[in-house]
Parts: sequence; structure tokens; C-alpha cells
Amino acid sequence: MKKADCIFCKIANGEIPSTTLYEDDMFRVILDLGPASRGHALILPKEHFANIYEIEEEYAAKAMILAKKMAAAMTKALGADGFNLVQNNGEVAGQTVFHFHLHLIPRYENDNALVFWEPGESTPEEMEKIAGEVAKAL
Ligand code: 5GP
Ligand code: ZN
Repeated sequence: MKKADCIFCKIANGEIPSTTLYEDDMFRVILDLGPASRGHALILPKEHFANIYEIEEEYAAKAMILAKKMAAAMTKALGADGFNLVQNNGEVAGQTVFHFHLHLIPRYENDNALVFWEPGESTPEEMEKIAGEVAKAL
């Protein structure tokens, strides 16, 4: 399904032009308009899924396989020194476009692209409690 008012549905399906690095019947990979680093790209499914909770398993699996292929090609072509995969879900997690997308962010020495968090603290008891809560939901 496509969503009528979704900009990434339109870009993924070629209704709005984009700089495309790769395309097949399920995905389009485009350059991000506001790149964190040189070559920052987005994997967009051609079907509309709002986020990781909604995406079909086949698309989720193939998105990761495509990420591996793109990471290798982009690292080689652009001379990257490392690579981040980032995928935001929900406003609180930084998602601004509500059509699933996987960020491909090539990293370079001293590029100052900010993809990090401040390490917090936990305890063995808290970690056991979390593991128990998640296990019940699986
Ligand atoms: P999010 O914050 O939802 O994880 O990421 C949305 C990304 O989409 C941002 O990095 C933003 O720069 C990019 N973006 C938003 N609108 C457009 C657009 O129309 N074209 C392209 N190529 N990228 C976009
Ligand atoms: Zn969409």
C-alpha cells in the first residue's frame, strides 16, 4: 500500500525526483537532503510502513541485506573509514518522516557527524528485571 500524503511514498515510487543510488522492485536508496556526512543516504521501501513496528518481515530482512550491500559499495566508492546504520521510530526517538527508512551514514576521520549517546548506568538487578520484562513480551 502507498499512503497518499506521504512524501517518502512519492519519492520511493519516483513521483518526486531524488538522487537515487540504487533501485529495485522493493526499495529505492536516495541521498539525504540534509546529510550528516558526505554520502548520507536513506533506504526507502516502495510500500508504506510507518516504522519498525509496522514493516513486514520480508521488507525488514531485505532492508538489512541491502544495507550490507550499500555499506560495502559506499565505503569503497567514497573512501569512508566507518559506517553507521540509524533507524528512528517515533517522535521521541527522532523520527521526523513517518515512512520507514534506514539511514546509511558513511563516517570519515574527524567528520564531526553526531551519532552517539551519553553512556548511562545500570545494575545487575535492573538488567535482570529488563530481561525478564522483554522475555515475557516476545
Ligand atoms: P528521521 O529524522 O525521520 O529519521 O529522518 C528523516 C530524514 O529525511 C532526515 O535526515 C532528512 O534530512 C531527510 N529528508 C526529509 N525530507 C526529505 C526529502 O524530501 N528528500 C530527501 N532526500 N531527504 C529528506
Ligand atoms: Zn509512505
